[in-house]
Amino acid sequence: MPELRKDPVTSRWVIIATERGKRPSDFGPEPERKRSGFCPFCPGNEDKTPPEVLAYRDTGGPANSAGWRLRVVPNKFPALQIEGELSRQGDGMYDKMNGIGAHEVIIETPQHGDTIGSMSERGVEDILWACRDRILDLKKDPRFRYILLFKNHGEAAGASLEHPHSQLIATPIIPKRVQEELDGAKEYYNYKERCVFCDMVRQEMNQGVRVVTQNEDFVAIAPFAARFPFETWILPKTHDPFIEDAQKNEYVSLSRVLREMVLRMEKVLTTPPYNLMIHNSPLRETDGRFYHWHIELLPKLTRVAGFEWGSGFYINPTPPEDAAKFLREVTV
Ligand SMILES: [Zn+2]
Ligand SMILES: [Zn+2]
Repeated sequence: MPELRKDPVTSRWVIIATERGKRPSDFGPEPERKRSGFCPFCPGNEDKTPPEVLAYRDTGGPANSAGWRLRVVPNKFPALQIEGELSRQGDGMYDKMNGIGAHEVIIETPQHGDTIGSMSERGVEDILWACRDRILDLKKDPRFRYILLFKNHGEAAGASLEHPHSQLIATPIIPKRVQEELDGAKEYYNYKERCVFCDMVRQEMNQGVRVVTQNEDFVAIAPFAARFPFETWILPKTHDPFIEDAQKNEYVSLSRVLREMVLRMEKVLTTPPYNLMIHNSPLRETDGRFYHWHIELLPKLTRVAGFEWGSGFYINPTPPEDAAKFLREVTV
């Protein structure tokens, strides 16, 4: 069972894999990637993944058989484990708990070579519905306080399999990065009685310099204090704390903006590795006034190094105004 341990200074939780601990030799130079040609996520290999927890099929058909448009399966090598009671313990000055959580993989399409940019809008919409369906299901589990949905695309961004997929991890704690955003948004709200993200959307749309694209429901911007070159965020134009509460027309327009943004990024940066995260309100948040869900899209173009790790500061070599202009002006 993995263990969650809390840093007593910063209150940051980490997941420690106590079993199957990796030895020094496991961290040697990166081997040449094996291209065996075998992909456990391709149609026909359904028995090579744990049994599906959700699938979309046009024709019905039995679970764990081919004919799906999208499948969700538990991660075969989960960072956290689903079984067991949550137990918090102290060890002298240190806090820990057993590593309970859900770790699932959304296999986005049967097409091995697809990207979000090359998929149909309907295909991208399926991914969003799957996110919603899994959030609504996992929300029922009282052990979980947060669900982080994310995508690693490309080896440099942490993807170990090529086949297009996203992941979700449900955790019994609220992750620190999210907690920092929640605290900041709450503070802004307490002071101004307005949502900081609503204000940001309003100002960015007025100024336009950092807007990449928009439609009736969503706007994509390069944020004012972007940490990374070509970092972009996609935000609902009207206040919305929970992605799972969005309506059908909003998932349709989100799938359009998301697909377009990935396409723009692929064109401008020649198909870069990237990370995508959905920042949502905590599962049991009852005050929906101050936080506003959004997507963060981070192409992996620079390496986080000593200064960043040591300081929490980032050095971004591309002003977000320039990034927005490049992304806006490319023809897609
Ligand atoms: Zn595949
Ligand atoms: Zn808002």
